[in-house]
Amino acid sequence: MLQLKRIFSLILVLVLCLGLSVQVQASAIKKAKEKDKELKNQKNQTQEEKEALTQQLNEIVDDMEQTQKRLSAKEQEIKQKEEELVNAKIDENNQYESMKKRIVYMYENGNTEFIEILCNSKDIGEFLNKAEYISRISEYDRAQLVTFQNVVEEVKKQEEALQTEYTELTALREELGVKQASVEKLLADTNTKLEELEQKIGANAARLDKLLKEAAEAAARKKAAEEAAAKAAAQAAASAAAQQADGGAGVQAAGPPVVSGGGQFTNPCPGASYISSEFGEYRDPSDPSHKGMDFAAGAGVPTYAAADGTVVIANYSDSAGNWVVINHGNGLSTKYMHHSALTVSAGQRVTKGQQIGLVGSTGWSTGPHLHFQVEVNGMAVNPRNYL
Ligand SMILES: [Zn+2]
Repeated sequence: MLQLKRIFSLILVLVLCLGLSVQVQASAIKKAKEKDKELKNQKNQTQEEKEALTQQLNEIVDDMEQTQKRLSAKEQEIKQKEEELVNAKIDENNQYESMKKRIVYMYENGNTEFIEILCNSKDIGEFLNKAEYISRISEYDRAQLVTFQNVVEEVKKQEEALQTEYTELTALREELGVKQASVEKLLADTNTKLEELEQKIGANAARLDKLLKEAAEAAARKKAAEEAAAKAAAQAAASAAAQQADGGAGVQAAGPPVVSGGGQFTNPCPGASYISSEFGEYRDPSDPSHKGMDFAAGAGVPTYAAADGTVVIANYSDSAGNWVVINHGNGLSTKYMHHSALTVSAGQRVTKGQQIGLVGSTGWSTGPHLHFQVEVNGMAVNPRNYL
């Protein structure tokens, strides 16, 4: 019996330690999941930046190609204009040379011939015609020369305009080149950032994986230990009952009924040090209204059936831990959660004040306490109305 109690307390300590480690793991897992979410957000943002930059770069490269085409076309035009200018200068020069020749010819042959030509005219009409002809020739020469000179000037202007355009296009091409280099640099930076984020996500995922595995292992260990504790307690209760039946004195795991208070229900945990949470209290957004009353008590403090009834559940649940549900009839039932061990089993009749288990912190619990819940037709009500 003593041996059994020692084993039982050892198991109880183990359960408490395991419970603590499960909580620590749960918070590490939550952090790792949050980190994963944040890193993936960052990655998406960087991906968007990369796409925007790639589009920008494509536009610049297109502009670059267009500018290069325009530059090549401009080079062609300039070349043509240069040839035009050369031809215009040749025309101008030819005209000048022939005009000079005609003038020189007229002077070299003296005014005599000029006068002779005029004097040999048959009549004044022919004379006037000839004089007019000579004057027209020189006028024509001058006009031709001016025309050719004007053509040269015009072509020169056109060539200068083309040169200006060419210079502007060259500047544009340089500007685009600088832009392209800077966008390419940004793109390279973004790629580096993406690689870094991928690495971080991978490392975090590996860590999360490891944590989840460890948590699953710890939860399995905790469950096994809690089940072992429940079994040991049941054995202790059975052994005590057997001793009692044999008429033996000795220490009893489940003593006579413990009834306190004048209510319909007895206090299910008179050994509690205080009430840590009342019915209806706000807890957190996922559990806005507390469905029962929490009796804060040391691990191992006995818990009792609130009234006569039948145990309908006495087992382990992930959320309630080792728990007991007693049906009292007339739509009334009570629930007792987070025990380190149970001393009753499903199907058993219990009397008011009969021990049903030992306070613990199994299931979703942050410290040893009894969660006591009263329900009327399945609806949780304030237990204080019954105590
Ligand atoms: Zn509670």
